[in-house]
Amino acid sequence: MSHEHETDPRAIRAEALETLLTEQGLVTPEAIDGILRHYEQDVGPMNGARVVARAWTDPAYRERLLADGYSAIAELGFGGPQGEHLVVVENTPQVHNVVVCTLCSCYPWPVLGLPPAWYKDPSYRSRIVREPRKVLSEFGLELPEEVEVRVWDSSAEIRYMVLPEQPASLAGLGEEELAAHIDRDAMIGVAKVGP
Ligand code: FE
Repeated sequence: MSHEHETDPRAIRAEALETLLTEQGLVTPEAIDGILRHYEQDVGPMNGARVVARAWTDPAYRERLLADGYSAIAELGFGGPQGEHLVVVENTPQVHNVVVCTLCSCYPWPVLGLPPAWYKDPSYRSRIVREPRKVLSEFGLELPEEVEVRVWDSSAEIRYMVLPEQPASLAGLGEEELAAHIDRDAMIGVAKVGP
């Protein structure tokens, strides 16, 4: 398993640019953090939310998404770096999926944006494998004993996204309305959608 993006020349270049711009007084680290937060929480995950909303309302799309995540996501116009080998795993009443990168921070950028800080934290990366139920309960997600928990280890080769279950409370809503209810944590698998 290789994780070449950790030494990605683009990342090194970005860091050098940030340092230069900050030193020259052209931007502040706070402004850059604000932009990153925006991509972590708003812009990025909205792509994933649209994918999930489409899958919930279009059974044929859902099948294509589960069979070939990359191509189905490209149908909606999303793609690019860190999304080339994207696999979508489906939550059901019997199986709950959760995603991690145990070695670093591999993450499906085209659908979820930038990873949150906790995703990159060594504690999450090691504990979600060893004691997934305990970690999920710390996120506020209590799963019944009979539900099987599957932990998917992302890498530079394969990145995972969770297709959450559609709660009964959201039955009958259109794609746009549904998308507004689907947040990042449900697509990483540390939360469910809805009440
Ligand atoms: Fe990684």
